[in-house]
Amino acid sequence: MKQPLPPTAELAKLVRSGDRMWLARAITLIESRKREHRALAAELLTALMPFTGKADRIGLTGVPGVGKSTFIDQFGSNLTSEGHRVAVLAIDPSSSRTGGAILGDKTRMQRLAVDELAFIRPSPAGGSLGGVTRSTRETMLLCEAAGYDIIIVETVGVGQSETAVHDMVDIFVVLMLSGAGDELQGIKKGVLELADLIAVNKADGDNIKKANLAASDYRRAIRLMTPESKNWTPPVLTCSAAQNTGLDELWAQILKHREIKMISGEREERRHQQQIRWMWSMITDRLLDQFKDSPKVQERLQSVTALVKNGELPAAVAAESLLETFHQED
Ligand code: GDP
Repeated sequence: MKQPLPPTAELAKLVRSGDRMWLARAITLIESRKREHRALAAELLTALMPFTGKADRIGLTGVPGVGKSTFIDQFGSNLTSEGHRVAVLAIDPSSSRTGGAILGDKTRMQRLAVDELAFIRPSPAGGSLGGVTRSTRETMLLCEAAGYDIIIVETVGVGQSETAVHDMVDIFVVLMLSGAGDELQGIKKGVLELADLIAVNKADGDNIKKANLAASDYRRAIRLMTPESKNWTPPVLTCSAAQNTGLDELWAQILKHREIKMISGEREERRHQQQIRWMWSMITDRLLDQFKDSPKVQERLQSVTALVKNGELPAAVAAESLLETFHQED
């Protein structure tokens, strides 16, 4: 039998104590879509807010098979062996379709899964990208309050999930594979634009030369792009997650990025902008929910949609009319 949740102030204390069972319970609470849970979750987050924000927030993406789990398992273990506390979260909106979270799965990171200094939380199952993003963002705050000083948020490039992760981290790392010289063609340009650091993985054995060539190609591609900051050109490294090579250099670059961005004030600014965009995206989501849940809107929605579909009513007029209906309720 699960113990009932204690009052919010008590739960906040338990989360801060670093107790993983209570952290997990708190995350389940914030993942819940039930109205009464939402209110409690808001209270909990408010109570914990002063204790958040101290971690390094690292985003990680790459196509399936690039070695994300191998990388996180090794990289995370390197960090915990230095005494860091590492939380691994995931954004995977497709998990609602596959019926289970495919990212952040404990079986994929066997060493970290049993590491006292690590906490792995798979992507919340079900829901829209917006819902999954909200949960992950709030989970990140809970982990920070629980004393994790490094948060890794992992995603595969499903829909807009890369943008969502980029929008909640301090540094966005893209893992790449070396191919047969046609690397750049298959890569979405968008993901390179989001990258703060690129690492060509599997640079081991016979693959080292190809990985170096791929890295040069990416460097050239990066030079052609408009840099996001005059203080930072995304470095392109090679690494082998399997052999634990290149990961120290990658960590050194993450620290360098942090230092440069802190001194220039860009890190704080990025976080402030993220907060503001986050607020607006919550407002947009909530308003849309309210609109869709409104009984008067629901009453008319089907017939109006049919008229728009048949070309009998212009979309703009339909939107105006439905919004009027929505506001009439007040
Ligand atoms: P993910 O789908 O991105 O999480 O990728 P995985 O971590 O599951 O790795 C996919 C496959 O690539 C597995 O068979 C790994 O053992 C292998 N792999 C991962 N990293 C490396 C590496 O650095 N070198 C080599 N040679 N294989 C790797």
